[in-house]
Amino acid sequence: MSEVIRERILAALRAVFDPDKERDIVSLGMISGLQIKDGHVAFAIEVEPERGPRLESLRKAAEKAVAALDGVLTAHVVLTAERPASKSPPPPSTPGRAQQSAGGSPPLLPGVRAIIAVASGKGGVGKSTTAVNLALGLKVLGLRVGLLDADVYGPSIPRLLGIKGKPTSPDGRRLQPMENFGLKCMSMGFLVEEETPVVWRGPMVMSALEQMMRDVNWGELDIMVVDMPPGTGDTQLTMSQRVPLAGAVIVSTPQDIALADARKGLTMFRKVEVPLLGIVENMSYFLCPDNGKRYDIFGHGGARDEATRQKVPFLGEIPLDMGIRETSDSGQPVVVSQPDGAHAKAYVEIARKVWDQVAARLDDSGRQGPRIIVQ
Ligand code: ADP
Repeated sequence: MSEVIRERILAALRAVFDPDKERDIVSLGMISGLQIKDGHVAFAIEVEPERGPRLESLRKAAEKAVAALDGVLTAHVVLTAERPASKSPPPPSTPGRAQQSAGGSPPLLPGVRAIIAVASGKGGVGKSTTAVNLALGLKVLGLRVGLLDADVYGPSIPRLLGIKGKPTSPDGRRLQPMENFGLKCMSMGFLVEEETPVVWRGPMVMSALEQMMRDVNWGELDIMVVDMPPGTGDTQLTMSQRVPLAGAVIVSTPQDIALADARKGLTMFRKVEVPLLGIVENMSYFLCPDNGKRYDIFGHGGARDEATRQKVPFLGEIPLDMGIRETSDSGQPVVVSQPDGAHAKAYVEIARKVWDQVAARLDDSGRQGPRIIVQ
């Protein structure tokens, strides 16, 4: 069945011509990574890096051709370039832009004063929950905040922020970010169907990330929080190479095993010279709602000790709490649903510690200074 669809997709793509080469993109061998799953189609068009910025209409034409086929529910097409773009023109300039990359690539997110990553060594430690509540905590401080879900494989921001629907593109060129609780956000979860497992090669992930930064109308923001996928893979490297990260926040549970993973994250950010803003200990202890007793389920304090050992700031501890889980999973994060509670206060305190460090590094123009980017 999927073989039949595959043939029909390729037939449709034979009608899509590369404007520069005047041949169709299938016979030019430009299609790669074609994935078909329950009517959801994703693939990449491989292009020379310098042509990437001009070929958005080709990408759209391919997407449209496939989406129009019977039996295809969604089509998601990305442009990929094996090498980083070097001669592409910069995006529309914003006055006062101070971000420059020494690699010669156009700066991404020119209107964003500071970009920080929230990372963890492994999944399930509450990284996304922390990223969302930290972003909302920064909002409480009066900042203009964006949240980018860089977990292309397992996006969770739409659920955590309770946002449904798809972004619109009023000018047909750039997407409007989605918004809730005053946070602007973007996630692959808005662009692909929720149930679709995304099986992508590295270059496609990089291209998707770049598009979520370049082709989204983020506007002017004081800070963008990037929810990284767990671990130390392509996304972390892409992000630290393509944008001047103001720093990274590492989320860990107190257990040794999570800490061993968290250490890998610390080491990686150190290697790419991204400042470590500190460690958050999540699921630090459990306060039993029945008897008020405290249980150190995962061995409280491990992350604080590790922060001391690694000479990075300890940002705070968040208990294992039913309220946090319920509000997080129902799209009502605790910072907005229980703003006067102890948890919200803890997150706002973490946000303050993060912003203090970030603000101290902004240059006179109020933006991150240039950083040498090693490709
Ligand atoms: P990750 O991004 O590390 O995979 P998530 O933020 O998606 O982790 O959290 C994993 C699960 O743990 C979710 O169900 C979330 O609601 C829950 N969770 C996260 N932090 C806490 C906490 N402090 N207390 C209780 N549950 C939590």
